[in-house]
Amino acid sequence: MNADPPTHRACPYCNELISLEAKVCPRCRQWLTWRSLRNPLAQSLFVVLPLMLGCGALLVLAANRFQRVFLPRPFYSEVPGALAVRESWLNWVETTNGPRIYVTGILTNRSDLRWRDIEFECRFADSSGRMVDAAHGRTFMTVPARDDAAFRVAVTPGRPSSADYHSHEVRVTTARSSHSAF
Ligand SMILES: [Zn+2]
Repeated sequence: MNADPPTHRACPYCNELISLEAKVCPRCRQWLTWRSLRNPLAQSLFVVLPLMLGCGALLVLAANRFQRVFLPRPFYSEVPGALAVRESWLNWVETTNGPRIYVTGILTNRSDLRWRDIEFECRFADSSGRMVDAAHGRTFMTVPARDDAAFRVAVTPGRPSSADYHSHEVRVTTARSSHSAF
């Protein structure tokens, strides 16, 4: 009767009888242990996997950067009251192409963001305070953070008489934050 513990076993890949201690099958060269970085499977777990995770993290960072450039935030609607018209004046001017209204003014930026491509809404009222005309104007200006900037909006009046434009009101409807690509 043979009570000696077994010293050999069959390779699970090629069935060759090999030493129990063998890490690599001498016949088919398959790695038989997990506990070695030279095992291709262990390599894929401890080297390739972390590498892939690293690349994944880089991709997420790149996507984030892309979003910041091409889908800029915050939008103007997310920063209420960022731009306020401090003062404004209305000038009725007769040009060779007919009458024009020039609304000029000073814009105050109360936010920490730079704004550009500012869109204004102008409302005009007669002497009784009734709104008689309205217009939107877009200016390609930039207002630095916590600063002022002068603006001018040119409007073609919808009414023939300057007497109808007794008073006006102008406010910012939208603008783009400065790191916007578009
Ligand atoms: Zn083998």
